[in-house]
Amino acid sequence: MSIFEENKTQNTDVSELGEFGLIDHLTKSYSCKNKSSLKGVGDDAAVIDFSGEKLQLLSTDMLVENIHFDLSYTPLKHLGYKSVAVNISDICAMNGKATQITVSIAISNRFSIQAIEELYSGIYLACKEYNVDLVGGDTTSSTSGLIISVSIVGEVEKEKVCYRKGAKINDLVVCTGDLGAAYLGLQILKREKEIFLENPEVQPDLQGNDYSLQRQLKAEARTKLIEVLDELNIVPTSMIDVSDGLSSEILHLSKQSEIGITIYEDKLPIDHTTMNLAKEINLNPVFCALNGGEDYELLFTISQDHYEKIKKDVDFTVIGHVTDKSEGNNFITNDNTSHEITAQGWDSIKNEN
Ligand code: ADP
Ligand code: MG
Repeated sequence: MSIFEENKTQNTDVSELGEFGLIDHLTKSYSCKNKSSLKGVGDDAAVIDFSGEKLQLLSTDMLVENIHFDLSYTPLKHLGYKSVAVNISDICAMNGKATQITVSIAISNRFSIQAIEELYSGIYLACKEYNVDLVGGDTTSSTSGLIISVSIVGEVEKEKVCYRKGAKINDLVVCTGDLGAAYLGLQILKREKEIFLENPEVQPDLQGNDYSLQRQLKAEARTKLIEVLDELNIVPTSMIDVSDGLSSEILHLSKQSEIGITIYEDKLPIDHTTMNLAKEINLNPVFCALNGGEDYELLFTISQDHYEKIKKDVDFTVIGHVTDKSEGNNFITNDNTSHEITAQGWDSIKNEN
């Protein structure tokens, strides 16, 4: 019996734990030794204190072909852009500003130089758009698909850093932009791929779905809204970015802040095109908003004192409030019934594209 086979007989399949369970399992008994490591595993970015004026932020995200993207419908330029944008989003979630990235790629011999150039044109466009510098990386080969791993550094003033922890009872729960469109964009792309595989003569029908396709293919980080919050003198009490679906992120804030969260169906920000498209393809738009991933909006909590400052801004929607932990996490539907929030969001260990 090989070592691998021997190990296999004793081992638990990783899919039993899921992505978050696995991270927890691997890191729960580890603690950082350096004084400068202010916050390690468990937030959108690590927080490092070199005892200058600002704190440093560090995060990394990996995109794997056929897990996170499908090259049959993802243009390489868009993929390059997205691989940077999703990292910027994690720095936003700490209320910080991104400054540098490194990009590591593993490529198989099916990629041409022109294809990798296309990927990099997207990476450079995102660097320009978000004002970050590409300062290094690593390049290696892969036996099958493409892997892109971006690491990012950012900074934030000490008194402005936001963690997933920190939400207080009676705080307002606020979500930026709108939800569910990126998930629907993915469903449209998958549908057209199926049709194409069955009948390559048929041209893809992507007409009229520009918004959801753009939300899926050209993810953007909400850097401007971090600036708006700063101008309004608002420091959220807790914050996270919506990458895995609203429900999943609500559970992260609630667990780490040791509070409960109640949100309302009629408050969910759902674009009218998302509403229409969901109905057209027989999906529940509310389900898409709660559980669809990759919106890269920000979810945060603020003191009620700030309500007047944000109430007129269409980019911010108050979707609920913070309660005592004992009340749990609840979703109040339009018929005024309460449903416990459970995570059905994106889990890369359990899901495949
Ligand atoms: P996000 O969705 O914001 O990128 P993740 O869900 O990927 O965050 O990760 C949650 C936390 O777990 C982060 O703090 C991340 O740095 C940490 N983490 C993820 N994978 C690992 C790993 N393999 N080893 C150590 N820490 C990890
Ligand atoms: Mg995040």
